[in-house]
Parts: sequence; structure tokens; C-alpha cells
Amino acid sequence: MSKFKHHKYFPKTKAEQQFRFPFVCFACRKSFKYPVSLFKRNCPQCRSPMEMLSRKFAAPKSKDLAQWQKVKYLVDSGFRFYSVYRSVEGGGQIAVRYPATLQEATSFVQEFEAQAVRHAVQPFAPADGFAAR
Ligand SMILES: [Zn+2]
Repeated sequence: MSKFKHHKYFPKTKAEQQFRFPFVCFACRKSFKYPVSLFKRNCPQCRSPMEMLSRKFAAPKSKDLAQWQKVKYLVDSGFRFYSVYRSVEGGGQIAVRYPATLQEATSFVQEFEAQAVRHAVQPFAPADGFAAR
């Protein structure tokens, strides 16, 4: 008799519970928190595919069309709210603030194009709390 059980019967690890990421639906202009997924997640409301962003992302109000336009532009350009850095004179790097407006976002994307990440899911280092699978 096998003692193996399907993985869904095992309780979720603490890391999985803690590391919830914002998944945004641009159709609904809403953000939902889910554990990281290697597959595209669909919006629980409209079933559109959602985009996974950095945990630093703070969703604008759903009525704030200008802000959502900016977020969409950044994500389409490969900026998912992960840290972006600017080299400083004398060496070293400083984290750069994400742009406040769509207009600022345009020059931000141009300046930091080399740091754009164009794939949806980031590879996670064990230091981030994810065990290798
Ligand atoms: Zn939706």
C-alpha cells in the first residue's frame, strides 16, 4: 500500500503563506495577493490573465485611470516594481524611486531600459525563502 499522497494534501509551508505577491488585472484595475506561480493566473472576477508584480507594488485605486495607465505602461516595458538602480559617482548604486506619473514613466523606461525584466516570473534565490524545487 502506498503512503504517498498527492501534494495538495500537505499543508502549505510557512514560506508559501508568507510570500504572497500582487497579481494585477488591468481589465478590472485590481490587485490580488497570491503565492508565486509559475503559471499565469487568471483574474478571479473577469478571468483575464493577470500579471505578477513585485511585493513593493502598491495598487492605485481602481478609479484612478491615469495611475493604472502608468502601471500598465511600466509592466509592458518590463518594469514590475522590482528595484531599479542608478550608478552613482565614485561607485556604488542607489535604488531609484518608481515614477509618479505616466509622463515621468516614459523617461524612466528610457533611462533604465537595461534593467527591464521581460519575463513574468522571477527566478528566486533560496535567500528569498524559497526552497529549490
Ligand atoms: Zn479582472
